[in-house]
Amino acid sequence: MDFGFSEQQLMIRQMVREFARERVAPGARERDESGQFPWDIFKEMAGLGLLGMVTPEEYGGSGLDVLSYLISIEELAWADASVAVGLSVHNSVCQWPIVHFGSEELKRRVLPPLAQGEVLGGIMLTEPDAGSDLASLSTTYRRVGDEFVLSGAKMWITNAGIAKYFVILATRDKSLGHRGISAFVLDAEQPGVLVDPPEKKMGLRSSVTAGVTLEEARVPVENLLGKEGEGFKIALATLDHSRLGIAAQAIGIAQRALDESLRYAKERVQFGKPIIQHQAIGFRLADMDTELEAARWLTYRAAWLSERGGNISRTSAQAKLLATETANRICNFAVQVFGGYGYSREYVVERLYRDVRVTTVYEGTSEVQRMVIARALERLASTAPEC
Ligand SMILES: Cc1cc2nc3c(=O)[nH]c(=O)nc-3n(C[C@H](O)[C@H](O)[C@H](O)COP(=O)(O)OP(=O)(O)OC[C@H]3O[C@@H](n4cnc5c(N)ncnc54)[C@H](O)[C@@H]3O)c2cc1C
Repeated sequence: MDFGFSEQQLMIRQMVREFARERVAPGARERDESGQFPWDIFKEMAGLGLLGMVTPEEYGGSGLDVLSYLISIEELAWADASVAVGLSVHNSVCQWPIVHFGSEELKRRVLPPLAQGEVLGGIMLTEPDAGSDLASLSTTYRRVGDEFVLSGAKMWITNAGIAKYFVILATRDKSLGHRGISAFVLDAEQPGVLVDPPEKKMGLRSSVTAGVTLEEARVPVENLLGKEGEGFKIALATLDHSRLGIAAQAIGIAQRALDESLRYAKERVQFGKPIIQHQAIGFRLADMDTELEAARWLTYRAAWLSERGGNISRTSAQAKLLATETANRICNFAVQVFGGYGYSREYVVERLYRDVRVTTVYEGTSEVQRMVIARALERLASTAPEC
């Protein structure tokens, strides 16, 4: 067992940490107020090679390992969770399935501009009546000549209106259930793709999220991922990997909440001593630190498993469940540590508390993670770790 980082991983963490603290953190509060998408930061991240982190070099990416990607997301989320989610969606749910299920021609055409940050990417799974129950989606497709024609409505789409390429699921015939679903790469810059005004969200306010209507949107046949009917399977495989990015995002937000809480608890004096010396506060901070460390290492273990090519479904669901639930508890208590000040927009813990909330919802709710884990347990003979 090796709990150490490689030299390259340490170098990447240092680079992203410096960038996050010097370039991302300072404007986070202003962006939270204005809701402005940080194009300048994404441009700088493209220059650092962060827009195609796990895409192979031959397609214009940086070809990094999963752990390097996760620690980068963690560092960015420490500074601004809105930036972290935009980047995570662009890298994982968009580029990952193209790398693994796209034809060679498709990869050579769409990955370089995505990986080099010339255009952004996203994914369109959720619909007004199909969230957790993805197999019940209603967006339809039909083949017309050399194209697929898509019609329907998608909802809660991160990077809608600002990204060019989206991985999208649609069904040939709803009565076929998940077997009727295919996955495509949609170019959103066409008249048949209509984007609603951005949602007014509780948190992640500078990350753009919007509904999208597809009115006979055109997709060339070359943009099919895998084979027709494999879309549901492709989406599940993608989410198995991408939800680690959300675990890392939650860990980054929680680490910031813990850092801020520690600093404040050492400075704030009540009843004649710093509040960290009151056991109720000190013990809770000890719990926060311990639980965060456990969530972090489970997430890193999932990254390690993923590098070995194993089935990570159960471990990635466990990591996302533990990391996001723990992070929510940590941010909740961080507000408590700050007392009344924690309820003020003057203090960062107020934003962290709002930003972290959605991590137990998107890319599979906590209930869905428990379903994934329970189904994996049903198939297992023993839960003892592999030697
Ligand atoms: C900020 C934000 C960004 C997002 N970005 C994207 C994106 O880029 N692309 C995209 O496709 N989607 C995106 N989503 C959508 C997100 O993935 C869904 O909201 C999520 O999957 C839950 O679906 P739902 O909202 O329809 O809730 P529902 O599925 O309706 O669930 C409602 C509640 O019921 C529970 N529930 C449902 N079924 C069961 C069950 N069988 N057993 C127990 N409990 C159950 C759920 O856990 C939840 O608590 C985003 C959402 C948000 C808020």
